[in-house]
Amino acid sequence: MNAPASPPAWPLHMPCDTVIEAGLLVTQDDRRRVLADQALVIHGGVIQKILPLADAADLRCGRRLDLRRCIVLPGLVNAHTHSPMTLFRGLGDDMPLMDWLSRRIWPLEAGLTRELVHLGSQLACCEMASLGTTCFQDMYIFQESTAEAVESFGLKAVLAEGILNVPTRSYQTPEEAYARIANLLADYAGHPRIRFAVAPHTVYTTSEAILRRSFQLAESYDLPWCIHCTEDEAELERAQALFGMRPVTLLERLGCLSPRSVLVHGVLLTEGELQTLARAGASLVHCPRSNAKLASGLAPVAACLEAGVRAALGTDGAASSNSLNMFEEMGMAALMAKVRQGDPTVLPAQAVLDMATTHAARALGWQELGRVTEGGPADLTAVSLDVPRHTPCPNPVSHLVYACQGAGVVLTMVDGHVVYEAGCFPTVDYDGLRHAVREALAWARSRLDTISA
Ligand SMILES: [Zn+2]
Repeated sequence: MNAPASPPAWPLHMPCDTVIEAGLLVTQDDRRRVLADQALVIHGGVIQKILPLADAADLRCGRRLDLRRCIVLPGLVNAHTHSPMTLFRGLGDDMPLMDWLSRRIWPLEAGLTRELVHLGSQLACCEMASLGTTCFQDMYIFQESTAEAVESFGLKAVLAEGILNVPTRSYQTPEEAYARIANLLADYAGHPRIRFAVAPHTVYTTSEAILRRSFQLAESYDLPWCIHCTEDEAELERAQALFGMRPVTLLERLGCLSPRSVLVHGVLLTEGELQTLARAGASLVHCPRSNAKLASGLAPVAACLEAGVRAALGTDGAASSNSLNMFEEMGMAALMAKVRQGDPTVLPAQAVLDMATTHAARALGWQELGRVTEGGPADLTAVSLDVPRHTPCPNPVSHLVYACQGAGVVLTMVDGHVVYEAGCFPTVDYDGLRHAVREALAWARSRLDTISA
């Protein structure tokens, strides 16, 4: 693993921005150390020093955060979502995928605007920050609006305009989508928190030309290339009808599999396809709650890791999984893998936490994220040890995966800046946002009523 270069030793007599006092520190470093009673010295958005709490009493700092009754851990990395779909949450439950798409999602998306996408992205940022996520990969339209929301809120994101072979509200042709990617890259060049990916939607909603061209773009800009792949039987049938082969075979023949390739879902991957992905160095993003709710199936995650394929975790959009909660996703991933294999020893808690932190970060090409190390970014979250489900705490990693479910998150920080603390969002007018999203729900309901009338 490529650890970030160690910074010069921090002169401890110098005042720093923040000192965090951590009761338990889950580092996710190369040795997966869990340390008790540590102090984190943060300055300039970077963790400058980690030292025993007993040695930190006299440090001078702008702010001292008492998290001695907490587990402090790296901010979680949500490797796949569609953030603006928070606006559609609860509007299409308990429906088959094609019904859900054609009777709910596509009619709503046909009326989307930049402003609505911005609103839904802001809401997603609030939800994710309040549940310990500091970075997410987004695939949707009007990504310039999501970029603005992320920029002002303070999270990190890897944004991707979803590319389809049909016009969307955001662009008329794939060429326009490619141009949008180029513009966003220019607008946010060198941005410390916002990066981009190239994301054809699926093989069956694009074409061989789009798949090839989008992969070339990702290579030329050195970006991750993300695609929904092998999610359910219907997708396999469509791929077979259109291309005469399975999606992974098609991607391999088109030269679209490499370490920059990030395949989302992978529910129906075969053993041979896992070997293909392992040889290519591609990553898989597992979205167990979405797959379960749509009854798509259970991805072979344990076999995937065994084959040497990097597996990350994602929530998918809130319209399909109803939640952007990576803690719930971790618990679900562990339980479903055990059910699938009929073996309680597969996918232990540490492997699942890796999927939500270091593996997700590496899949997105941002490997300094997902770990708490000296010289790394101060992207952290803290979970209270005082809530009943975390008391007592013999094994913090176990609690984070099996018990937490998002309960007791008290603070989330990105590059040393607090974006969530004790129910408050310091970078956004949350009351105003709640009012605006209620109005957006009224818009969505009336739109669905008009269509079904
Ligand atoms: Zn998705």
